[in-house]
Amino acid sequence: MTPQTPASPAPPEVGAGRYAPSPSGDLHLGNLRTAILAWVLARRSGRAFRLRLEDLDRVREGAAQRQLEDLAALGLDWDGDVMVQSERGDAYAQALGRLQDEGRVFECFCTRREILEAPSAPHAPPGAYPGTCRDLSPQEREEGAAKMLALQREPALRLRAGVREFSVEDHFAGTVTADVDDFVLRRGDGVAAYNLAVVVDDAAQGVDQVTRGDDLLTSAPRQAYLATLLGAPVPAYAHVPLALNTAGARLAKRDGAVTLRDRLARGESAGDVVGRIGDSLGVPGCRTARDVLERWDPAMLPQEPWVVELPG
Ligand code: GLU
Repeated sequence: MTPQTPASPAPPEVGAGRYAPSPSGDLHLGNLRTAILAWVLARRSGRAFRLRLEDLDRVREGAAQRQLEDLAALGLDWDGDVMVQSERGDAYAQALGRLQDEGRVFECFCTRREILEAPSAPHAPPGAYPGTCRDLSPQEREEGAAKMLALQREPALRLRAGVREFSVEDHFAGTVTADVDDFVLRRGDGVAAYNLAVVVDDAAQGVDQVTRGDDLLTSAPRQAYLATLLGAPVPAYAHVPLALNTAGARLAKRDGAVTLRDRLARGESAGDVVGRIGDSLGVPGCRTARDVLERWDPAMLPQEPWVVELPG
């Protein structure tokens, strides 16, 4: 018998980076810079690069398609299908079911106002869930259910967190420790909460490198903790500084011509926009994301936010 040789060797386990925009409007220069960094960090480490549309919240008609077009125009490419969170309800329900089976989920009947006004537990960080519904009696739960009926919503489902804090390693920030409270897994409207969706989806997409804006740095420990509960690997994190306007506030659409399409309408090219982003990273003269990949070294990442100054 002749031994069978496979036509091609099995692909190596390469891992993946990702970019996961929320399609609430066009990406601005700060988002585009983060996307380029995510792509560069993935590609230079030989990883795949995945895209995911995080559309569980406010969505603007047509924005998802425009975002993909804009990323492609800068020279980004991605592997496999774009994952769309609104199509992933079964996967989130399955993860939730697993946590429920392990007794790690409880119903929360609190309104937002009640949480804000509740006296916080001793030593709890500001804004942390005060634990009101963690250990209710059957009668209190019945009262809660009646209240939800009157409010015409479902109880939120929260994680019965087994730790107070958790630590992750960030490529730029080093060891980051943040509080972990009983955060929401499923919202009162029945939709998966961001923290659950992101962990389930990163695992499903084989993501082992998360590059994103540093506004999410303190969310990483709770997501990493949740990953360990779900038996998913904790990714490597790289949180990058945000873009600011000249007044020091987070860059936003209202700051003027801040999207790729705005810049094109002012006579710039996609290459000019990449050039601007390259300048902010200390690599002048870039025209495509590939130029940034070839010239930029992560050690060059400025630790301060990018203050965007635009003509016109
Ligand atoms: N969808 C989030 C955003 O656009 C990013 C979430 C993440 O990268 O984990 O801000």
